[in-house]
Amino acid sequence: MPMTRNNKQDIRRRMKSGFEHLLSPIRIRHVELKNRIVMPAISTNYAAKDGSVTQRIIDYYEARAKGGAGLIIVECGSILYPESRINKNQIGLHDDSLITGLADLVNALHKQGAKVAFQLSHGGKRSTSDITGLQPVSPSAIPIKARVPDWPEGEMPRAISVPEIKEIINAFGAAAERAKRAGADAVEIHGAHSFLILEFLSPYSNLRNDEYGGTLEKRTRFASEIVREVRGRVGDLPILFRISADEHVTGGLTIEDTRRIARILEHAGVDVFNVSSGNHDTPEEVIPPAVYPLGFRVDLSREVKKVVSVPVIASGRVNNPQLAEEILSNKDADLIVIGRGLICDPEFPNKAAQGRADEIRKCIACNQGCIDRYRMFDKDGNGLMTCTLNPLAGQENRFSVSRATQTRKILVIGGGPAGMEAAMVAALKGHKVIILEKEKTLGGQLRLAAITKPDMTNIMTYFEKELVRLGVDVRLQVEADYNTVNDIKPDIVVLATGAIPFIPPIDGIRNSNVVTAWDVLRGIETGERVIIAGGGTVGCETAEFLALKRKQVTIIEKKSNIALDLGPIRRSLLRQRLTQYHVAILTDREIKSIGSGFVIVDDENKMEMDTLVLALGNQQNPEGETKLEMGLKNGNYTIYKVGDNEGVGNLLHAVHSAFYVALKC
Ligand SMILES: Cc1cc2nc3c(=O)[nH]c(=O)nc-3n(C[C@H](O)[C@H](O)[C@H](O)COP(=O)(O)OP(=O)(O)OC[C@H]3O[C@@H](n4cnc5c(N)ncnc54)[C@H](O)[C@@H]3O)c2cc1C
Repeated sequence: MPMTRNNKQDIRRRMKSGFEHLLSPIRIRHVELKNRIVMPAISTNYAAKDGSVTQRIIDYYEARAKGGAGLIIVECGSILYPESRINKNQIGLHDDSLITGLADLVNALHKQGAKVAFQLSHGGKRSTSDITGLQPVSPSAIPIKARVPDWPEGEMPRAISVPEIKEIINAFGAAAERAKRAGADAVEIHGAHSFLILEFLSPYSNLRNDEYGGTLEKRTRFASEIVREVRGRVGDLPILFRISADEHVTGGLTIEDTRRIARILEHAGVDVFNVSSGNHDTPEEVIPPAVYPLGFRVDLSREVKKVVSVPVIASGRVNNPQLAEEILSNKDADLIVIGRGLICDPEFPNKAAQGRADEIRKCIACNQGCIDRYRMFDKDGNGLMTCTLNPLAGQENRFSVSRATQTRKILVIGGGPAGMEAAMVAALKGHKVIILEKEKTLGGQLRLAAITKPDMTNIMTYFEKELVRLGVDVRLQVEADYNTVNDIKPDIVVLATGAIPFIPPIDGIRNSNVVTAWDVLRGIETGERVIIAGGGTVGCETAEFLALKRKQVTIIEKKSNIALDLGPIRRSLLRQRLTQYHVAILTDREIKSIGSGFVIVDDENKMEMDTLVLALGNQQNPEGETKLEMGLKNGNYTIYKVGDNEGVGNLLHAVHSAFYVALKC
């Protein structure tokens, strides 16, 4: 290609950004992507019940396209209705009547300069009769055996017949053709995560002894026939294949198998391999929480890349452009999936390109908004995806942060996540914002959370930088009282003063050997034998913190399970670590009184200890309204409450409640 002035400018811009590889274009067949950033298929459940595209879906993806992603792989499209579906509001590619909506989506993303692929999927045994009204199918009648307790159970699938296999192959082809007619630039065949194709590829779920089971070649036959069928229908359109390169189960696919499978599938016509890992029995590998290191799957893409001659996509907690650039420059992959990172900050690519990488709001892999909201706390399949740190994710068609018509003076009291979010959004709206925090630094409870979860530091760093950038007047070590507020004379006061640890009214609670989890995380020393009262997230993480200091730790929890405020993946991994560190866990028990070196549990059992640590949740001011609140009311100030001050909750509640209040200001 001759070097034009624009080419030269582009190259100079990429070199200057420090992300030369990440921002360089790549050609796949006739399709040129402007950079190496790929938004992967992540279910949102935003489609209509019949699988058609909604305005909500268009606006959600359009924001990511506008943010600069090179390729957007639209989530998991169902190829058959209803049998291949895994969600009630899953996007569909199963009928010609859907093409107009799909085309609207493609056009909207093209206008923003992104290329678009549709992902073609059949849920296999991940489908359930609640959603489809039918018994799920699989190569063999083997149910899901998730090693994560509380992960949704699958139903016993029935083994699919050969004529049905042929029909499904045909349906993949027809769906691909619809994607092409809608104007897509590529299609992705979903061969990962216990969708039907992986179930065939894997000796763990495929026990057939016909032409579709047995040897690796026979297990790969279903996938190969789909690739060939799709190729026959879409001509030159690039075909991506998402693969779980290691299922992380005994008897499942390993990287050695995948290397062989990838060669067969490349021969069948695959143009790009999108390398993932895990299956439905190992969801923690599919959607890794923050205990997994950044870039944890790169070794898998590196191995696949060694055996194929087509481009390979790496994935796995790549939440910053520096890491993405490193993976590409090491030649461990040709493209990078940024999934949760783009949900959290759609502007990630543009910020990297414009020398504003330090303004990226990095995903903290908490899974609370994107996975738990959508999947776990909603048993009927209607849950919608969101993001803990980005309340606009999925709400792009309803809200936006725009300049206020009238500039106001807004005083935010409290510099925890709720206060920082409120201050940031109010400043983005053009208000004059002052934030008061009584401690030496901003962060609130996040400072404590970050002791056991270092990713939480990202949030504090992000907010601190944004507040400075937006000119918010941050006043530290100022404890607000009525006089402080009166001196400032704000138009609006946002109360983000948080909550305090709950101290139960039981005998001995004021003894010197009783402390709170907050005290422990702030550095107070405990004795050797520690009892933690309360097995929520804070209790369990404090137990882990102390066990790592070689304390002998017992958790006493009133409910029948621990960490019930977390989704199942994080809960399961936390429990595994506590077991590994020999933390004793007693559930369905309650501490009734406290002595000088013991507690009485359930009125009868005496348990000896040196320190009792209270982790029983938070409470708002037990005496009711604070003096500050009463003063503000008497002074006729307009007051909004956010975060724990509005209602004790979690980080998602803190950020979201503050966002919506600031939007009103
Ligand atoms: C150890 C730990 C781990 C956690 N882990 C998670 C997790 O994994 N996921 C999750 O979702 N949530 C987690 N949380 C909960 C989460 O941190 C809280 O829900 C969130 O911080 C509440 O935010 P907030 O801004 O409302 O209150 P806070 O974070 O409590 O902030 C309130 C701020 O107000 C300041 N303040 C109070 N009064 C005044 C005053 N008069 N003047 C000036 N400043 C004042 C305080 O100093 C404080 O900085 C965790 C909490 C802890 C303690």
